[in-house]
Amino acid sequence: MPGSSRTYVHVWYCDDCHFGPLNISIDAHCVNCGHQRCSYCKVETHKAPRNS
Ligand SMILES: [Zn+2]
Ligand SMILES: [Zn+2]
Repeated sequence: MPGSSRTYVHVWYCDDCHFGPLNISIDAHCVNCGHQRCSYCKVETHKAPRNS
C-alpha cells in the first residue's frame, strides 16, 4: 500500500501529577510520580516526526 506508511505515536499524561507526555510503549508508569497508567490518564495520538 503506497503512502500508508504513516507512523503514529501514542502518548499519555499522568492523571495524578499531570506529567507528560509519556510514551505508552515505553513508559508503563509515570516517570515523575510512579503512577501506573490507568483509564483516567489522558491518552493522545500524535503523528511521529519523520527521521531523515
Ligand atoms: Zn505522575
Ligand atoms: Zn491514571
